[in-house]
Amino acid sequence: MTIDYNKLKVLINLPNLCHNFQVFRKRFDRVIPVIKSDAYGHGLAEVSRALNGEGVDTFAVGFVSEAVHLRQSGCDKRILALLGPVDESDVQALWQHRILTAISHKDQLSKVARAAQDNGPLDICLKFDTGMRRLGFRLESLPELIAFLKESKLTPVMATSHLVSADEPDSKMNVEAQAAKFRGMIAGLREAGYDVEANLANSAGSLAHELCHMDSLRLGIALYGGNPFHGTKWEDVGRELKPAMDVSAPVMQVHSLAKGEGISYGWTYTAERDSVVAIIGTGYADGYSRSLSNSGFMNIKGYRVPIRGRVCMQMTAVDVTELMSEGLGVVAGDEAFLLGGPGPGAISPEDLAGWWDTITYEVFCLLGMNRREYIR
Ligand SMILES: *Cc1c(COP(=O)(O)O)cnc(C)c1O
Repeated sequence: MTIDYNKLKVLINLPNLCHNFQVFRKRFDRVIPVIKSDAYGHGLAEVSRALNGEGVDTFAVGFVSEAVHLRQSGCDKRILALLGPVDESDVQALWQHRILTAISHKDQLSKVARAAQDNGPLDICLKFDTGMRRLGFRLESLPELIAFLKESKLTPVMATSHLVSADEPDSKMNVEAQAAKFRGMIAGLREAGYDVEANLANSAGSLAHELCHMDSLRLGIALYGGNPFHGTKWEDVGRELKPAMDVSAPVMQVHSLAKGEGISYGWTYTAERDSVVAIIGTGYADGYSRSLSNSGFMNIKGYRVPIRGRVCMQMTAVDVTELMSEGLGVVAGDEAFLLGGPGPGAISPEDLAGWWDTITYEVFCLLGMNRREYIR
């Protein structure tokens, strides 16, 4: 659902997204784009269509309802629902819309096995818990799981597990332990006659942990140009990635702010010198977090301009004094970039996430809820 009452503009660069995909596709046969949550705010249907001809055979989403949306948008590739069925309509949709679902718990498994009695055989993906402690079967339950499957009309064709800390170079040991545990589970399944496709790696695992590569990769944040190793000693492995989202909002008014005057709710900023401020038509109602108050920057005409005072519901003030003194007039109707934008002031997803005190994933998901346009 799009926020359509505001003035924010999100521009998605699909060629950059395809470039990021090819960074991996060049090296690996089977790369599964993870396009859950509206493709991390980049648009489920648009992203899947852009990647369709790039050598994708499977897309991954979260809930089964997202998989149904994707199927109904015209996607004819294999669709994997990583979170599996939650209610009965999800269960029925697996057959109706040909969805490969992850199954992560005994109760979920029995529900789907029961439906298979009526609907016929079904290929499934088994989700294993190798340490995340959210969803998935544990190693101990493998014998019972296999016994159950043998009596059912369900065939596991894929096995998956999720890494806890692949993006932290110092957690290499954890990654190795998870991979070893997962390999044990895969071996058990194969011994039982199930030739599953194994995947463990997310973006960070794909970029830096060879032992996680296995049969396929699940590529999320890197597809959208986020470098999971930003700010770490492994930052360089993500150097080829290109952000694909630019976000801008209009300048509404420009005026002076005299030394000593406060601005916005609570006067949490007081001008240290005679200044010029621009009021930008965006705020927390657009997903532009209030935590950016007095800490974030925007990009106007290639310059970084600091946020002054509190971010409001639909307005944010920035200091444009320096631009003015450079002879670059700022007037109502000019564009202010919250993300990306021109020149040396371009705001990277990591910059914005840092000021916001969050991760690039959340920046994309929230800002991506606004009206989007596409570069194709
Ligand atoms: C979201 C998700 C991914 C993608 O992770 P990134 O860090 O964005 O690459 C992979 N696997 C599962 C199970 C996920 O939920």
